[in-house]
Amino acid sequence: MKYIGPHVHTAGGVHAAPANASSVGATGFGIFTKNQRQWNSRPLETNVIDAFKKNMELYGYEPKAVLVHDSYLINIGNPDNDKRSRSIDALIDEAKRCEALGLALLNIHPGSGVNAIDASGCVAIIAESLNAVLDKTNGVTIVLEATAGQGSGVGGRFEELAGIIDIVEDKARVGVCIDTCHIFAAGYDIREAEGYSSVMAEFDRIVGFKYIRGLHLNDAKSALGSRLDRHESIGKGHIGIGAFKLLMEDARFDGIPCVLETPNEEGWGEEVEMLKKMAIGR
Ligand code: FE
Ligand code: FE
Ligand code: ZN
Repeated sequence: MKYIGPHVHTAGGVHAAPANASSVGATGFGIFTKNQRQWNSRPLETNVIDAFKKNMELYGYEPKAVLVHDSYLINIGNPDNDKRSRSIDALIDEAKRCEALGLALLNIHPGSGVNAIDASGCVAIIAESLNAVLDKTNGVTIVLEATAGQGSGVGGRFEELAGIIDIVEDKARVGVCIDTCHIFAAGYDIREAEGYSSVMAEFDRIVGFKYIRGLHLNDAKSALGSRLDRHESIGKGHIGIGAFKLLMEDARFDGIPCVLETPNEEGWGEEVEMLKKMAIGR
């Protein structure tokens, strides 16, 4: 089975997420556990943690159906030591919040060399940062999101994701998330069955499907290879409905959160329903 649902709002607290996901018929969902645009957030209170766990049960969500997204400020690939160490500390905090909530999948943007170092140098820095984070946490898997390859950000090529995993010591706690909009913008054409097959074969050869831990389902406002990260509702962008059907019918994406990050919230219910239908029997 596939766990399908949007990245939901948590206004009022993370414990509101299961009800929000349930209201659009989701079988899984994505969340932030803190304000994604701030460095500091108050620790999760015990009553919030308890309410979250209670609501997960109440609305019938298993922890493995949830993919947490980290703060946008974190960059564990920053070559500046002070800035990187702030990011490492923030990521450790994110992982501990997941632990407290009983969640195990934490999606991050791999990182950026901020135009100061090349991709291969940044790959090594990211991997060493991950080793430090994994060393200080328990049970949480860091999920590296494939990116659109914008600027000096790492993750627009499958080789870069594989290069990070290569240096990570605890390989059981590192994974990858394919974001359809991102890989399309990075130049991977998944629109037709033939292209889809060869892109996924390439992913399997370079990264390996054993590392797949999440899927971000977004159509793209931006063009193939544009390196622009602009999400669109499913079927309304340059990727089109066909790719999403192929994904939903693909057993290699079973058992992981498939999270919509699409712009039109009013359409989430319909998108979830459509994707669930495509995934029937899976
Ligand atoms: Fe993301
Ligand atoms: Fe994403
Ligand atoms: Zn994106």
